[in-house]
Amino acid sequence: MKNIYLLGECMIELMNTSMNTMKQSFAGDVYNTAVYLKRAFPKTNVHLVTVVGTDRFSQNMMTCFKDENIQSDLVFQSKNKAPGLYAIDLDDNGERSFTYWRENSAARQIMQHINDAAIAQLSQGDMFFFSGISIAVIEPNARASFWHMVDQLIQAGVQIVFDPNYRPRMWSSPGEAKAQFQLAFAKASTVLPGVDDFEQLFAIDTAQGVIDSLAPYPITELIIKNGPASLIVVTQSLNDGHPQEIQVSPVKHVVDTTSAGDSFNGVYLGAKLNDINDFEAINMAAQSAAYVIQHKGAIVDKIGFDEFWQARF
Ligand code: ADP
Repeated sequence: MKNIYLLGECMIELMNTSMNTMKQSFAGDVYNTAVYLKRAFPKTNVHLVTVVGTDRFSQNMMTCFKDENIQSDLVFQSKNKAPGLYAIDLDDNGERSFTYWRENSAARQIMQHINDAAIAQLSQGDMFFFSGISIAVIEPNARASFWHMVDQLIQAGVQIVFDPNYRPRMWSSPGEAKAQFQLAFAKASTVLPGVDDFEQLFAIDTAQGVIDSLAPYPITELIIKNGPASLIVVTQSLNDGHPQEIQVSPVKHVVDTTSAGDSFNGVYLGAKLNDINDFEAINMAAQSAAYVIQHKGAIVDKIGFDEFWQARF
């Protein structure tokens, strides 16, 4: 059985359902990716690498990991920190706004828990996934040890996968984010960016611009997401390094685009780990993302998703 390790932060999510009533769940880009990967490919071992607290919310979060069959062998517990929190507010026009309380979250301490034994375990994995948010979450003074760990995984032959999700307010400056993203581009063999990330950080707003800016890096698999616009794929095996456009069928009634990219990533990586060819892996990923955005929330109802998946694949 294949093993993928995903490092990042899972947060407590609050969403208002009516005036003064909030529904509580758990979400975060890397966690969302893990959930969809495991739902679509249950035979793959999906391990989350993170830190939670010992409080009730953290206990419930770990129960949620278990319910989603996500392995917690590298989920650490901090005695003095709690998970990050965010609230989604829907205004009268259906516009969403997000408020975060994550500056002091347990997950920021992840590198304090990564010892030689953890690195030895990660080195046995097939894939290691992290995002731009994962890097931002890691305390700045611990990032050197994160990159050192990534180098050790590369040496061990683990496939490194990076999604440069960019959240400006998590960085002290755009320059700080750029420097960290450039390190990630230099180390990851698979990169799964959205054009919007490049637009905000590098003022690049086309897929070709993304390809050109990543040309100096040794990336062997690049899939560029751009909402309902075509996916642009550059992989050695699919097209000998020439960009290929794969049409997306636009969804007519989008309900909530949260997690579009995360569900795409999870299903795509799961498919690749299960030796499904590139074209079919992308098709599965795009159809899953299209399903997810027709439902509310980052993590859609499990029964509904399973029914969709069984009917299609
Ligand atoms: P992110 O969540 O990273 O911003 P995108 O919005 O680029 O991600 O969407 C990721 C994927 O989800 C797209 O590549 C596409 O496959 C699918 N997708 C997103 N928006 C739509 C849409 N309106 N109709 C159909 N598919 C979509």
